[in-house]
Amino acid sequence: MDYKTTFSEIYAILKTVENTGKVAEYIPELKNVKASKFGVSITDISGKTSNFKDAEESFSIQSIVKVLSLILAYKEEDEQLWKRLGVEPSGSAFNSLVQLEYEKGIPRNPFINSGALVICDVLLDILDDPKKDFLDFIHDISGDNTINYNKKIAASEKSYAYTNTALINLMRSFGNINNKISKVMDFYFHICSIEMSCQQLSRIFLFLANNGTCPIHKKRIINTNQSKRINAIMLTCGFYDEAGEFAFSVGLPGKSGVGGGIIAIHPDKYSIAVWSPKLNKKGNSFLGTKFLEAFTTITDSSIF
Ligand code: GLN
Repeated sequence: MDYKTTFSEIYAILKTVENTGKVAEYIPELKNVKASKFGVSITDISGKTSNFKDAEESFSIQSIVKVLSLILAYKEEDEQLWKRLGVEPSGSAFNSLVQLEYEKGIPRNPFINSGALVICDVLLDILDDPKKDFLDFIHDISGDNTINYNKKIAASEKSYAYTNTALINLMRSFGNINNKISKVMDFYFHICSIEMSCQQLSRIFLFLANNGTCPIHKKRIINTNQSKRINAIMLTCGFYDEAGEFAFSVGLPGKSGVGGGIIAIHPDKYSIAVWSPKLNKKGNSFLGTKFLEAFTTITDSSIF
């Protein structure tokens, strides 16, 4: 399949649609990214990658990392993990406080901020040197040692962390955070700041299209059952209060980040990453979502 031609055809159509999205501003450093950037990368199950436009340019992956932090915690804790958080879609914004109060500090799922903070707390209990060990894990599963934190973005988010601070304090009051709040938050901001390109994303996530084994370097990262479950959570919770809409229009498990990136998985076929910094009202890439909708429609390749 010649994906490049398909990509440029879709891009040409979408160029005519008004992009009503906005670059995330609540993390001051993210404002410095050029809003017109656009990249796509697809890696098929044989490991062949096709790129389009800014596919090799790095950006802050933000909440996309929540899939990888969940995987590391899940590998260590197994089904015990679900005592600390659920696997239900929240139907609420990624940083909402409301549900967390009446559900007594147990986050609905690992992809909203509260859930990702609990996962960070779990990882602090497991890892000896959390920031180093997490990066080692990323290097190991990707086979790419160039991936790193962006300390400026981590510091920028820390300087404006009012909502995340409220979330973690509420969970602590219910006894669902064990470690020092400042340590959990520092770790969370660092993992969210990790930078990757669309090409790196489509390659690192390919194991989720192949029952947990990376087809490129052949390492098993998680087992088939875990891979099924991670894909299920991505489908139902990967886009917060737009998860239903994403499944309806794109039809693939996926995860977005406020840096404007989206990763989506077609089990047994491919993984695809898109990047366009302007976000829709739900905090998901405006153009990225539209691009994926057109892609799965034109190529007849959703899971449904
Ligand atoms: N670091 C961001 C935050 O906590 C991640 C949110 C996102 O990408 N949706 O707000």
